[in-house]
Amino acid sequence: MEGLMTGYGIVSILLLVAGILAVFIPFFILKIRNQVISINEKMDKIIKLLGGESEEWVEVFSSEAIPSKAAPDGMKYCGHCGALNGRWDKSCVKCGEPV
Ligand SMILES: [Zn+2]
Repeated sequence: MEGLMTGYGIVSILLLVAGILAVFIPFFILKIRNQVISINEKMDKIIKLLGGESEEWVEVFSSEAIPSKAAPDGMKYCGHCGALNGRWDKSCVKCGEPV
């Protein structure tokens, strides 16, 4: 009889633990979700660093119209005013024209 009581005791403790875990599961899911989102953002940056963006193709096509000088690593010269822009600048820092 004592052994049976101990068995029920263990079961009730397990149920209690399971209940506590069930309360915290939404928090875990939220945490995992945030981590997945941050990983995706990091992956986007990595893809951009590797030059996987379609911007590269835009550069290739636009370079036919405006022959650009050889810029330092990852940098772009403005086709309008010739100012040096960062690789990920969407528009020229000097004249504001799209680069
Ligand atoms: Zn410019």
